[in-house]
Amino acid sequence: LANKKFHPEPSIVPVGNTFIGPGYLTVISGPCAIENEEQMMSTAKGVKEAGATILRGGAYKPRTSPYSFQGLGEEGLKLLRAAGDEYDLPIECEVISRESIETAAKYVDMFQIGARNMQNFYLLKEVGKTNIPVFLKRGLSSTIDEWLNAAEYIMSEGNKNVVLCERGIRTFETATRNTLDIAAVPVLKSKTHLPVLVDPSHASGVREYIPALSKSAIAAGADGLMIEVHIDPSKALSDGPQSLNIPQFKELMKELEDYKKIT
Ligand code: PEP
Ligand code: MN
Repeated sequence: LANKKFHPEPSIVPVGNTFIGPGYLTVISGPCAIENEEQMMSTAKGVKEAGATILRGGAYKPRTSPYSFQGLGEEGLKLLRAAGDEYDLPIECEVISRESIETAAKYVDMFQIGARNMQNFYLLKEVGKTNIPVFLKRGLSSTIDEWLNAAEYIMSEGNKNVVLCERGIRTFETATRNTLDIAAVPVLKSKTHLPVLVDPSHASGVREYIPALSKSAIAAGADGLMIEVHIDPSKALSDGPQSLNIPQFKELMKELEDYKKIT
C-alpha cells in the first residue's frame, strides 16, 4: 500500500487545516514535552508567527531513563489543544499504548509513533484502525525497508494517512546524537508515495547544527521539517540542548523562506 509502484501519484495527507505533501512545506514545531500552560501558549504564539504549520508537544514521553520526566498525559493534551486552538494550528502528539491512543484521539489532529515504537506492531495496528493521520518516525536502527513495512502495518488496517519522518539513525559517530540519513529522503521518494519529513533536532541533538541540516533536508526533497522549540531551552524538562528558542526559530524560518526561493 505504501509502494509507489502501485500508487505512482504522491500522496497528500490532510492534517487539521493544513496538508502534508508535495507543494507544501510543512513545519511541525513545539517543545519535546508539554510542561505547562504558559509554555504552550507562548510557544504556539511564537511558532505561528514564525510560520510553522503544525504544533507539537509530547504528553507521553518514552524516556531513556524511567527517572526522567514522563509527560503530563491527558492534562498535557488539554494544554496542547488549547494552544493549537488559540493560534489556529493543528496539533500532533506521540502515543505509546492503546490507552494513550484512546485518550489522544479526543484531542489531536495527528498521532506520532516514536522511533522506539516503530516496530511495535501491535501499536501500529491500533493507530491503523483509527482515521487520524500518523507521523511515523524511523526506528533508531531500522532499515528503510523495515520502516516501510511499519507504514504497511498501519495502512493495512485501513488508515492511509501516513507521513514518514527521518530522525537520524545509530552509527559509530558520536559527535551528533544520531546520524541524519539524508539519503533516506531520495530513497523513500523513489520507493513510496508517502510524504517525507526530516527531524534535524533528534538527528543531531545539537541546536547549532539544525539550520544546516534543515536546509539539506529541503534540498534533498523533503516535504517538511520537525523542529523542537522551547521558550527557555536551558529550563526544558527534556531535549533542551537540541531545542531552538523562539528568536532562533524565527531566524531559521526566515532563512528557509529565502532558501526556498532559490531552490
Ligand atoms: C520526540 O519527537 O520528541 C521523540 C521522542 O522523538 P524520537 O521518537 O524520534 O526519538
Ligand atoms: Mn524530543
